[in-house]
Amino acid sequence: MSKIVVVGGGAAGLELVTRLGRSGLHSVVLVEPATHHLWKPRLHEIAAGTFDNELDSLSYAQHSACVGYRYVQAAMTGLDRQAKTIRLDRSVDGQQQMQYDYLVIAVGAVSNDFKTPGVSEHCLFLDSAAQAQQAWERVNTLLRSGQQQEVVIVGAGATGVELAAELAKVNRQLSRYQQATSLTVTLVEASDRVLPASPVCMSEKVQRELENQGVTVLTGVRVHEAEHGYLVTSEGARFKGDLMVWAAGIKCADWLAGLDGLATNRINQIQVDVTLQSVTDSDIFVLGDSAECPQPDGTFVPPRAQAANQAAAHLAHQFYRLAKGATLQPFVFRDGGMVVALGHSYAVGTLMQGKLILRGRFVRNLYDTIFRLHQRVLFGWGRVTALVVLKRVKYLLNPYYKGNI
Ligand SMILES: Cc1cc2nc3c(=O)[nH]c(=O)nc-3n(C[C@H](O)[C@H](O)[C@H](O)COP(=O)(O)OP(=O)(O)OC[C@H]3O[C@@H](n4cnc5c(N)ncnc54)[C@H](O)[C@@H]3O)c2cc1C
Repeated sequence: MSKIVVVGGGAAGLELVTRLGRSGLHSVVLVEPATHHLWKPRLHEIAAGTFDNELDSLSYAQHSACVGYRYVQAAMTGLDRQAKTIRLDRSVDGQQQMQYDYLVIAVGAVSNDFKTPGVSEHCLFLDSAAQAQQAWERVNTLLRSGQQQEVVIVGAGATGVELAAELAKVNRQLSRYQQATSLTVTLVEASDRVLPASPVCMSEKVQRELENQGVTVLTGVRVHEAEHGYLVTSEGARFKGDLMVWAAGIKCADWLAGLDGLATNRINQIQVDVTLQSVTDSDIFVLGDSAECPQPDGTFVPPRAQAANQAAAHLAHQFYRLAKGATLQPFVFRDGGMVVALGHSYAVGTLMQGKLILRGRFVRNLYDTIFRLHQRVLFGWGRVTALVVLKRVKYLLNPYYKGNI
């Protein structure tokens, strides 16, 4: 029985250990510093205080015991490929080594501040549940101030757009409850349209909807510097921001660059071949946002939750094939489209490689379905159905907004 160590229990890593644990063919270890898993595409809802994490978070300790993998609460900090060991930083007993037969790195990505001066000091990021919680604490303070407050979000990719729409919804809710506070939400994007990686007609529809919801959208504006309470553009204009969130671009953590000689690209993603094996070491696999994985058409697998989930399902099957002595098959990402949520009852999505744009409440339900499909892999349909029903009941009995204004 070979020992597979999976580092990172996010969209990719957690689905992989679940599938491998259930198969019982390997000894499986998950290395993850957090105690609980939350679905990353919903971090903006945690930041806005509209996500019920009581029902939708997963305890790694409980889940590992039920599914059949070992969970080690630690962060990977180094690698020795010759000795086939990784170095861990554990809060309980400090440094530790762990041996592997196969290593899977799935540690995701973080926001890229492009070394813009002042951003790391003065802006918040939404890269982890802890950061989203920190953002929520700041938002909650603003909401209770009794004054008009300016929120500026830099970057109109999916994260920035979804956060802007969520905060605009909280703002409308506040006015319904006749609170004195109001939020002005401004979304700043350097390129000439929101969602620059999506088809133009999707960008247009999303921008129109954001503006209908009261968000000020500024495109073609490049932030040059962040100061305490202000963002400065490359033209020298200054935007006041009582809360400033940076959601522009991604990169992988710096410790991944040159990890015992593993080849990486300019944003620190580990370069893999079509079988998801590192181009430098075939016993090391990389999944999700941490990987630069080529596709048959010459593009690379995009850093999206859907791609992370598909890669995890593919790799679980490949480990099954390895156990049976078969060769590895290439991973080909099947793009099922992209959905961007604009509040709790509206979403815009693309299907058929951007040829079809859909919008409305049923697209928002589709967005939720992607999250429920992830939960189905982790828990099975029975528990997911129970969670959906419980959440509906709770929503009827309690206001959706955490601050209970
Ligand atoms: C606010 C937000 C909204 C998004 N919305 C969408 C969307 O609408 N649609 C979409 O497709 N994608 C969306 N994404 C992107 C999507 O979440 C990612 O593509 C996906 O989560 C990547 O999966 P992953 O497993 O590679 O990484 P992650 O899900 O980020 O998981 C990485 C895991 O690694 C752990 N880790 C980090 N460092 C270490 C270490 N040193 N040692 C051990 N473990 C470590 C982390 O704790 C985490 O659990 C969004 C992202 C954000 C932040």
